[in-house]
Amino acid sequence: MMMSSGSRRILPTMVVNGAWHRPLCKTSTFRVGRSCLPSSTPVSFSRLPVSKFSTRAKLRPPSGQIPTYVYLIAAVPTAGSVYVYFRYLEEVPLTHRKRWIATSSEWEAQLGDQEYRNLLQQFRKDILPPDHRASITVRRVGNRIFKAAQEFSKEHMKDGSSSSSSSSPCATRPTFTVVRSDMANAFVLPNNHVFVMTGLFQFARDEDDLAAVLGHEMAHNLARHVGEKVSGNAVMGVLVRLSLLWDPSGLFASIFLPTANLLRELPHSRIQELEADQIGMHLAAMACYDPQAAKRVFTRMKQQQQQGGKNSRQPPEFLSTHPSHDSRIHKMDDWLPGTKRIYGQFGRCEHVRDEMATARRIAAQRANQREPPRATYNPC
Ligand SMILES: [Zn+2]
Repeated sequence: MMMSSGSRRILPTMVVNGAWHRPLCKTSTFRVGRSCLPSSTPVSFSRLPVSKFSTRAKLRPPSGQIPTYVYLIAAVPTAGSVYVYFRYLEEVPLTHRKRWIATSSEWEAQLGDQEYRNLLQQFRKDILPPDHRASITVRRVGNRIFKAAQEFSKEHMKDGSSSSSSSSPCATRPTFTVVRSDMANAFVLPNNHVFVMTGLFQFARDEDDLAAVLGHEMAHNLARHVGEKVSGNAVMGVLVRLSLLWDPSGLFASIFLPTANLLRELPHSRIQELEADQIGMHLAAMACYDPQAAKRVFTRMKQQQQQGGKNSRQPPEFLSTHPSHDSRIHKMDDWLPGTKRIYGQFGRCEHVRDEMATARRIAAQRANQREPPRATYNPC
C-alpha cells in the first residue's frame, strides 16, 4: 500500500513487538474504527509529539459516530426537497392559505377536458337539452358568476394570472351540464366544466340559491383544488414507495395510508370545501346575487337531514370529505358581513337585479312557448 509522506510523518513510532505491525494496524483501525492493539501490548510514545497524535485522532471518527460524508450525502436530497417545497408553495386567493401545488394549470385543464368527455358519455341519456329551461337558467346564472370570477381573478390572483392569461383558471369559457338525477349534487372539473344534478333543485329554489351553488363550484376551480389534491397524492405515493424499500412486506404502508387519509386527506378536503364556500359567497355577491342564499341552501339540507329524508345520512364530520352542515352555516355567518358589503356597494346591484328579473321573464315566456309549464320546480 502506498502512503503519503504526510501520513508517514504522523505515524507513531511505537515499539509494538516488531515494525511489521504498523501498516496493518493503520489499515484495520481506519476500517473498523477501533484500536487493533492488544491492551497488554507495551507501547512507547516517547518520540511522538503529543500534538501530532491528537491530529491523527481527529481524522478518525470516534466509535459510533456517523462519518461526515454521510451527512453530506443526506444533505443533497434534503436541500432538494426544501427547494422543491418552496418553489411550488402558493397562496390561495382571498383566504391566503399557503399550499403546495406542483401541477400546472395547463395540465389540470387537459385532465378536466378528458374527464368531461368521459362524463358526457356516462350521463348521455340523462343530460337535459341545452334549450331546457333548467339548462338555460343554470347557464344564465353560471355565466354571471363566471364574469365575477374573471374580475376576482384580476383583483386577487398574483403573478399576473389574469383571466386573459392562458394559465388562468378563468381563461376558458365554462360549460354547464344539467343531469336528470335524484342526487342533490353539483361538481366542477378543471377548465370550468360544471355539472348540476336536478336533485339539487329541491334545495336551490331560485337564482340566488343557484348562484350560491355555482359560486362554490367556480371557487374550487379558481383555487385549483384539484391540482392541489393531485400534488398531495403524488407526494404520498412517493412516500409509500420509499417505505417499501425498508419494509418490503408493506405493513408500514398498510398502516400509513389509512392514517394519512384520516389525519391529512379528509381534514384537507374539508378545508377546501369551506374555502370554496367562502370564495363562492364572494363571487355571488360580486355578481349581485344575495350572499345569504348559501346559508339558506345549507339550512334546508340540514332540515332534511334532521327529518331523515332521502339521501340524508351523513358520516361523522371527522370521517367525511365535507364539513357538517352546522359547521358550514356557522362559518357563513362569519363571512356574511363582508359579502353583504360587496353586494350593497354603491347601490350597484339595484339595476343589475332589475336586469335579472327582465331576463327571467323573457326566458320564462320563451320556455312556455316551447313546452307547457311544469307542475314541479320551475327555475325560470
Ligand atoms: Zn365543493
